[in-house]
Amino acid sequence: MEERKILVTRSSMPSYEDYIDAIKPLWDTHWLTNMGVYHQQLEKELKEYLKVQELSLMVNGHMALELAIQAFGFPKDSEVITTPFTFISTTHAIVRNGLKPVFCDIKSSDGTIDETKIEDLITEYTVAIVPVHVYGHVCNVDEIQRIADKYNLKVIYDAAHAFGVEYEGNGIGTYGDASVFSFHATKVFNTIEGGAVTFKEHSIYDKLYNLKNFGIRGEEVVTEVGANAKMNEFCAIMGLCNLKNIDKSIDDRAKSLRLYKDRLSKIEGIRIFEENQNVKSNYAYFPVLITDDYKSSRNDLYNKLRKCGIYSRKYFYPLTSDQACFKNKYRDTSLPCAREMAEQVLCLPLYEGLAENDIDYITSLF
Ligand SMILES: *Cc1c(COP(=O)(O)O)cnc(C)c1O
Repeated sequence: MEERKILVTRSSMPSYEDYIDAIKPLWDTHWLTNMGVYHQQLEKELKEYLKVQELSLMVNGHMALELAIQAFGFPKDSEVITTPFTFISTTHAIVRNGLKPVFCDIKSSDGTIDETKIEDLITEYTVAIVPVHVYGHVCNVDEIQRIADKYNLKVIYDAAHAFGVEYEGNGIGTYGDASVFSFHATKVFNTIEGGAVTFKEHSIYDKLYNLKNFGIRGEEVVTEVGANAKMNEFCAIMGLCNLKNIDKSIDDRAKSLRLYKDRLSKIEGIRIFEENQNVKSNYAYFPVLITDDYKSSRNDLYNKLRKCGIYSRKYFYPLTSDQACFKNKYRDTSLPCAREMAEQVLCLPLYEGLAENDIDYITSLF
């Protein structure tokens, strides 16, 4: 049998010629990193595209999240309410800041944090909420803000999946105290590796500039325990090139998603998430839920697809709270919906340029 292999994602790239042309000036200036002109240009263009007031570029999404949390200076061992139904980075960023994750359950409607269960988890030690716009599905930002205001908590969104998403016409990065995006090669928009923090107050820009550059304030002055999280110029140029094509790229994903939905929606036991009418989506992922009414188990389907060269992924199984590094270390909370979704979910291949006959083939295996 012919070997065909379809991975869950494939990086969008500019043409070879466009990228080579764009990086040529670097051989004149020899300025490769440390907030160069392309770094500045990409910050400017991303602020416009994402419709946010302030944005700080970072070396990757994870460091963006770590430094965004660090920027607020929470006391050590404080509690942060978050979701376990996410990529491990979200929980790592909290713990690596010396804070304690408190895992809140999610909603079966869209996989985001269940805002009705947040208040019960708040204690005198709670300082922040770190929700995730998982799959680009928008959290209940209004209710989360109401709770945060009532208890004087910060809200830092993990918006790694939500590049270009808008809610009621607003850039998703305008909600909460800060939002964090990932520009990893596998995400909707990529800079090879990269990320950004978006926020409203300019004072946070200075703070993050400092934190991503070793805490250095002047040639002989270091004021903070910073990291090195600067994006280099090659990555910034990749971002500028990819940004030119982003709308077309998202449209192409939308087209694939419609084909998938058309072919899978009538299959018994396959649940597809509904689109939120107030949201402009980025079609970042195509998660489906393999419920008990389907003819086989999620894992059997995963294995069958894999045998046929289709590399779907169980995003997000296991829950981060169940991983060896976190299990039984933090407050034990009830997570029935998160557990169920982790057992049922399968993300199918979705990327710019996915062929219609590949979608036909994948869906024929269900
Ligand atoms: C990708 C991702 C991150 C980390 O971003 P990197 O750019 O890979 O460091 C964080 N959170 C979520 C939910 C992600 O999917």
